[in-house]
Amino acid sequence: KTNNLQGYAPICLGLEDFYIRRLYLRIQDCFGRPISSAPDAWFDVVERYSNDNNKTLKRTTNITRCLNLGSYNYLGFAAADEYCTPRVIESLKRFSPSTCSTRVDGGTTTLHNELEERVADFVKKPAAIVFGMGYVTNSAILPVLIGKGGLIISDSLNHNSIVNGARGSGATIRVFQHNTPSHLEKVLREQIAEGRPRTHRPWKKIIVIVEGIYSMEGELCKLPEIVAICKKYKAYVYLDEAHSIGAVGKTGRGVCELLGVDTADVDVMMGTFTKSFGSCGGYIAGSKELIQYLKYTCPAHLYATSISPPAAQQIISAIKVILGEDGSCRGAQKLARIRENSNFFRSELQKMGFEVIGDNDSPVMPIMLYNPAKIPAFSRECLRQKVAVVTVAFPATPLLLARARICISASHSREDLIRALEVISQVGDLVGIKYFPAEPHKQ
Ligand code: PMP
Repeated sequence: KTNNLQGYAPICLGLEDFYIRRLYLRIQDCFGRPISSAPDAWFDVVERYSNDNNKTLKRTTNITRCLNLGSYNYLGFAAADEYCTPRVIESLKRFSPSTCSTRVDGGTTTLHNELEERVADFVKKPAAIVFGMGYVTNSAILPVLIGKGGLIISDSLNHNSIVNGARGSGATIRVFQHNTPSHLEKVLREQIAEGRPRTHRPWKKIIVIVEGIYSMEGELCKLPEIVAICKKYKAYVYLDEAHSIGAVGKTGRGVCELLGVDTADVDVMMGTFTKSFGSCGGYIAGSKELIQYLKYTCPAHLYATSISPPAAQQIISAIKVILGEDGSCRGAQKLARIRENSNFFRSELQKMGFEVIGDNDSPVMPIMLYNPAKIPAFSRECLRQKVAVVTVAFPATPLLLARARICISASHSREDLIRALEVISQVGDLVGIKYFPAEPHKQ
């Protein structure tokens, strides 16, 4: 770990502040001792502002109140909610924060069963299983689904939890060019003879893994094309909807709903509750047989403590709000709002001359900085003007593809977004990252 980053340290140490602080965290020896003489506490604490109306929060000298353009709180459920919060508090009293048991040893409450039924219904699959952590959902499930003699074909920009799960499975791994169906087909063609039935191929099983929205790119998966190719070559489709479930689609049901893909064509639907639902944990949804198999065999189900009951209650309540089962139209309003906010913000940034990657409707919008040396000035200036933006650089991106990653929430007001645009525009001029001419009326 140290070796990877040591080389970059001298360059970055000449700069300052935000980036260095982050970098220091990584520069430590294998026992976790800092190699530099940096103090321990590095991160400025950024309070949530966009979705938090509680103005009475105590301030401490180290805390800056900022507009939060960095969190995955897509529908605003991570703040107190008039429907969810009282029910979560009630569940805390009734079930306590933890079951202190695994699912099979008394850690399954009525909430766990209800959650699994609701998730299956929400993603339109026959059954679902939930886990206490989204990361573990990928990394623990893949080794149960596939092993030696199997083939995983993974998008080149898939999340680390997928990469780890794939490596841990022992299956052969091939990577296809990010979100490029033609390259996926090429890889599949190389690996199998077209038209051969599943049972007569060199691989016991083939799983193609993609994400609904790519979290560093803001791109929607080209799912219709990918599903068609997988059908043609009889490969299973595994879809990680961490960033798309709840965030896109007319009723928040993710990329299948948005792109008109039949969920029956996606064999394994994975998602997390840490974004749109404002909770924690992850799920796998699929056929009844698949879920039953996982319940009997998956170590993360058999040996890990079950998801915390209040967290489960938060997800159940958020789903009810999204579907209007709370008796209000707040869910539909939130979904309309995140779409409008995302499309407004993206198009305004583009008009200003920024290079914004990703697709319309995606709440994730990276602004390309390219040169990592621009990161400290960009984030420091935004933060100085009380706008918190996450910047991403090597090793999460290639060295010269640094970016600022904006995440839009349904709870951002139009005024919030306009203020953020003004700040980002000024900082963009200062740092020199407007790579295109601005539209005349914006000059
Ligand atoms: N999958 C993807 C695509 C992710 O982006 C993430 C984390 N953001 C995860 C899985 C892991 O989820 P969690 O943070 O809920 O553990």
